[in-house]
Amino acid sequence: MNTYEKIYQLHHLMETKTFQDLAGPYKVGVDLGTADVVLAVTDSFGNPVAGSMRWASVVRDGLVYDFRGATEIVHELKSEVEQIIGVKLEKGATAIPPGTVGRNALACSNVIAGAGLDPICQVDEPVAAARALNLEHGIVVDIGGGTTGVAVLKEGSLVFTADEPTGGTHISLVLAGAYGITFEEAEKLKKDSSNHQQIMPVIVPVIEKMATIVKRALNDQGDFTDYPVYVVGGTAYLDGFEYQFSKAFGRKVHVPPHPLLVTPLGIAMYS
Ligand code: ATP
Repeated sequence: MNTYEKIYQLHHLMETKTFQDLAGPYKVGVDLGTADVVLAVTDSFGNPVAGSMRWASVVRDGLVYDFRGATEIVHELKSEVEQIIGVKLEKGATAIPPGTVGRNALACSNVIAGAGLDPICQVDEPVAAARALNLEHGIVVDIGGGTTGVAVLKEGSLVFTADEPTGGTHISLVLAGAYGITFEEAEKLKKDSSNHQQIMPVIVPVIEKMATIVKRALNDQGDFTDYPVYVVGGTAYLDGFEYQFSKAFGRKVHVPPHPLLVTPLGIAMYS
């Protein structure tokens, strides 16, 4: 199964609440995000077995602020997936935005431990995404709910990471202001692809800001002109995002299918 097939497969399994009957031992990845929590399970080759997600606001700007809520959600997702596959999940990996240290970094592992998963490793989010994309040499930009993260990989090694607080939440705030609606209504409006053409002119400045964050972060780090650029994270679902980001960034970037699931899949592969 190639990389994109794996992402499509994980999405299909999550939508249908089914599993792919592959041999264990299984790997488990938990992505604790600003906008959602995703639990993905793969076999030892990184082929998706099952997964589940919840929209939730238990993390802000990459930091767990509702520890109890986060633990309960991970526990629910774990139980749901265990019921689907008929196997008890015992250990798992988590990820953190680049630069998260100390107690803030520990919090993610503590959450999954509280939910009954032995936390066996923790990776940087864009590094996990690169793993799912099978990217050894390139740039991964991860635009989730709260932040825009960037990771540069050279010959399989991470050479640079950065993370800035602008993400899909900021797009929703701009929409809420422009249309005089609540944040929740703006999130709904934004996630409905039939509105994407209409809202794009309103949100282009935020996409341009995201591209500028990445450009600035890379500025003094070297010449990356021959590095392919992949943008993952839920914000990249927006129709026209790839075009607008490429235009502002000054280079063609690639958005994989179901960009929200790339990081969770990669986290599972690390466990
Ligand atoms: P972070 O990585 O910043 O902690 P996260 O892991 O929660 O956040 P993702 O799950 O990658 O981030 O993406 C969540 C963001 O993607 C939210 O802002 C959400 O509104 C947005 N999003 C999700 N689905 C869609 C969609 N179909 N169209 C547009 N935006 C979407």
